[in-house]
Amino acid sequence: MTDSRTAEAFSHRDAPRIFCIGRNYAKHIEELNSTLPGAECVIFMKPASSLVAPGELIRLPDHVGDIHHEAELVVEIGQGGRAIQPEAAREHIRGIGLGLDLTLRDVQTELKSSGEPWERAKAFDHSAPLGPLVALRSDMDLADLHFELSVDGAVRQSGHTAHMLVGVTDLIAVVSRSWQLQPGDLIFTGTPEGVGPIAAGQHLRLAGPGLESAEWTLA
Ligand code: ZN
Repeated sequence: MTDSRTAEAFSHRDAPRIFCIGRNYAKHIEELNSTLPGAECVIFMKPASSLVAPGELIRLPDHVGDIHHEAELVVEIGQGGRAIQPEAAREHIRGIGLGLDLTLRDVQTELKSSGEPWERAKAFDHSAPLGPLVALRSDMDLADLHFELSVDGAVRQSGHTAHMLVGVTDLIAVVSRSWQLQPGDLIFTGTPEGVGPIAAGQHLRLAGPGLESAEWTLA
């Protein structure tokens, strides 16, 4: 009996909010020639229509330039709350898993240079494939989780949560200062270095010790 649920469990009726953290790993900031976030961290959101369950075809927009993978640890909120203290944040986590923050990199670069919001580059349909979520076990150290993304069998990204600039419990504290967190809310915690383009027909696999793996094919 596995205690995991997939993105299918999130119907539009549930409409979870999907918070995403940007620029949370130093080497990823370097590879994009970005700057450190001015505030505590960069926060943006995706709609529920971004979610893709494991095994479902990912349908991407056409004629939009490079589409990049960003492999990320994802936490699901169980018990809601506002202004949650970092020391108490762990108790608010219901599930943990892996997901992709798919990004239209060329569009994002244009939006960044013109100072416009990122939604067209980050919040399009199917921009958030989400693997199964497992219950957070007491022996899991949130600052010592490893995860990996392979594309067509070759490892593209290897993440270790120890390298996050703002750790998981601090992220929950920061997000909950602006939004009252609700059960089912998801937080994509940022991507490590190694982002790069993906194309139709390719096969993506996310995996990590203690976490559920997930696979997708790009339509
Ligand atoms: Zn990201």
